[in-house]
Amino acid sequence: MSGRTAWVLADQLSPSSPVLEGADRVLLIESVAGAGRLVFHRQKIHLVWSAMRHFARDLERRGIEVDYRRASSLREGLLGHIDDLGPSQVVLLEPSTIGAGEKLSALDPRVEVLEDGLFLTSPVEFADWASERKQLRMEDFYRRQRRRFGLLMDGDEPLGGAWNFDAENRKRPPKDSSPPRPYRPREDEIDRQVRADLDELSGNLPMSGVDGPRIFPATRAEAQRALKSFCEQRLPDFGRYQDAMLGGERFMWHALISSSLNLGLLSPLECARAAEDAYTAGRAPINSVEGFIRQVIGWREYVWGVYRLRGRVLAGENALNAHAPVPKAVTELDPEATDMACLKDVLTGVRDTAYAHHIERLMVLGNLMLLLGVEPRAATEWFHGAFIDGYEWVMAPNVAGMALWADGGKMMSKPYAASGRYIDRMSDHCRGCRYSLEDRTSEDACPFTVLYWDFLDRNREILAGNRRMWMPMKNLDRIEPAELDSIRTRAAQIRGL
Ligand SMILES: Cc1cc2nc3c(=O)[nH]c(=O)nc-3n(C[C@H](O)[C@H](O)[C@H](O)COP(=O)(O)OP(=O)(O)OC[C@H]3O[C@@H](n4cnc5c(N)ncnc54)[C@H](O)[C@@H]3O)c2cc1C
Ligand code: SF4
Repeated sequence: MSGRTAWVLADQLSPSSPVLEGADRVLLIESVAGAGRLVFHRQKIHLVWSAMRHFARDLERRGIEVDYRRASSLREGLLGHIDDLGPSQVVLLEPSTIGAGEKLSALDPRVEVLEDGLFLTSPVEFADWASERKQLRMEDFYRRQRRRFGLLMDGDEPLGGAWNFDAENRKRPPKDSSPPRPYRPREDEIDRQVRADLDELSGNLPMSGVDGPRIFPATRAEAQRALKSFCEQRLPDFGRYQDAMLGGERFMWHALISSSLNLGLLSPLECARAAEDAYTAGRAPINSVEGFIRQVIGWREYVWGVYRLRGRVLAGENALNAHAPVPKAVTELDPEATDMACLKDVLTGVRDTAYAHHIERLMVLGNLMLLLGVEPRAATEWFHGAFIDGYEWVMAPNVAGMALWADGGKMMSKPYAASGRYIDRMSDHCRGCRYSLEDRTSEDACPFTVLYWDFLDRNREILAGNRRMWMPMKNLDRIEPAELDSIRTRAAQIRGL
């Protein structure tokens, strides 16, 4: 046999992928080595394998020949395919991970990597944009994207008279309403088989979290239903409660589409257009729609661009000289190991669903790791493994750049460090917590608050020159020396020193 094979990687499951055009067959490789590369959440591996197998089934239903292989590695799978089917060419879209395209094309001269990908902005386009400026401000990039795709535009001006409606967002959590239930897919025979395979592998494959019904889409049809349900039910309040947290509410008004976007089941532009349509039809207000579109065509594409531009460097940076390990309660996803109500709730969510929303990731988990001084690489690896939507490209900018300020401010002008007061303002966690926000030195003091002042104190020299840190540093200077000593002592106990 000869002809052209389209090799579809696990995060490129788009039925309209350019690599499928004119292909004689499709190759999909389920790599056990890939699943064991990190400690991945069991539900993440389940989702990826389920999505790959569903993708193969849907192609076969369209009459396309598929070679679906379970192999110990991608290399084994590819060489097996070449031996068995003898294609004259194996073509794939550029993999998202830096350097992976070169590695895969070095496996055999028949492998050809197309420059196309499933993002709206290619690495070359982003590098061009970046080369024209000193600072890579997300806001500039976002405006360019809005103009480029004509999203929420009135000629050259933003619809509604502003680019950003955040002043109307970031409200405290509501006391009198709860979020509508998100779309839930129904499991099928493929999921049952994946579950059985994972049960069998569980002795040899390190996995975290617990098994549970699949809650994220594994097919394009499911992902489209999830997007539609979000736009109808949750988008109207998405903006208002974007930063709010409520105990036991896993998903709030968030879209739950990141895993579908990252698998290739949805395209960023169709998500943005669906939200824009909801605005045009009067079904969702501008603050929510603009906020959502900013996440999808702004933040997501910006993070992708930053990764491709300086991901390797970023992954090695450690501006705050942070060397602590990830806390055991976090690595083991063990909510019982902490009395901190906020952390307990978020860890329960990650253990049970492999998901936490943005503010839980940034201001609870990320903030905790920043204040404890967790080593950026260790934190990045943990986030990568624990989340349903974790991929290398999304980790370095979000974890090292945004949450841990490991690049010393190239992405974010100041660290996202916050005391317990922030969590109290944006959630209902503190009401039921055994720790107190009223003092900052005793054993009962909120660990976030103790660690916050200790963080500022330990990083005084690095942060003193940062204009945006002027106020927090001034407040630090107001603390009496004796109290600061007590804070240091208590913080050292919390940090296990
Ligand atoms: C420490 C940390 C770790 C993160 N890890 C991941 C990750 O592993 N995978 C991932 O896709 N996102 C990650 N994010 C970004 C963001 O938190 C998630 O995309 C979002 O929570 C996913 O849930 P959702 O689909 O309900 O998103 P929504 O809140 O409803 O937002 C809509 C969409 O916007 C996109 N988006 C928004 N912000 C970002 C961002 N900063 N980076 C990339 N996409 C963004 C996502 O595709 C998301 O689905 C991380 C953020 C932080 C601070
Ligand atoms: S008091 Fe502190 S530890 Fe407890 S829930 Fe509030 S922020 Fe979290």
